[in-house]
Amino acid sequence: MIRVPQKPIFPFKGSLDKLEASGKSVLVTGPVLAQRSILEQCVKNYLIQRRRLEALEPFSFAVNIDSELISCYEGMPTALRYELDFVHSKVLTKLHKCLYCFISEPDSRDHYLPISEFPEFAFYIYNLIPCCSTCNRKKGKYWISGGVRLFVNPYFDLFQSDIFDATVSLKNLDVTYRVKGEAATNTVNSHVERLGLLSRYERQASTLVARLVELLSVDPSLNEQAVFKSEMLKEYNLSLKVHGGNYYETVFYKYLMTEGHDL
Ligand SMILES: [Zn+2]
Repeated sequence: MIRVPQKPIFPFKGSLDKLEASGKSVLVTGPVLAQRSILEQCVKNYLIQRRRLEALEPFSFAVNIDSELISCYEGMPTALRYELDFVHSKVLTKLHKCLYCFISEPDSRDHYLPISEFPEFAFYIYNLIPCCSTCNRKKGKYWISGGVRLFVNPYFDLFQSDIFDATVSLKNLDVTYRVKGEAATNTVNSHVERLGLLSRYERQASTLVARLVELLSVDPSLNEQAVFKSEMLKEYNLSLKVHGGNYYETVFYKYLMTEGHDL
């Protein structure tokens, strides 16, 4: 639900090179690296299908290397882990927010296409989503149902417009978030529902409401709607610039800069 840079696309070759140079037991890396050209082809297909990953089929290796691939992820060599950490934290998630909810700090990685079904993407950068443990637990190994993806892909899904809007009542200490009608695809609805995003955003925003009510009580000039809206516009522009239009704070201030307060 945030802006993630679309470019550059980091080559998979570098990850395989690091695996090769890692000194990890050849009993694990040997069978994986023996399938190197097939793995690189799998990643090419991933990128070709990146905007409709629901069409991607798991690859059937002639020799089963599923457990070795999973072991390369779970016991990941240090050099490869450093590369993933660097790309994820310095390039793809500079704001250090979970890429599924954009509330908490990421403290885990989710396999967008589950490792149990697609072990060929076990340590592929773009199949790994830095996320918070709450989102990781809620998503689990789920990703598709009836041909429809259940979660937004933060790297590759594009949106024509913002996804959320909100209603804010300072009088009732109440914030309500909604998915906008034009953004409500099956995948967006499922993502929002399964991760419980609306109620999580509402909990987060309750502290913004409390802060504003306090500000209004100590600074009478803010009660003037024109002054208030102008302050909300500043907050909105700042939040939009840093976090984008789908961040819960941006959506919150957008309502107040337009509608004013109801105290
Ligand atoms: Zn999260």
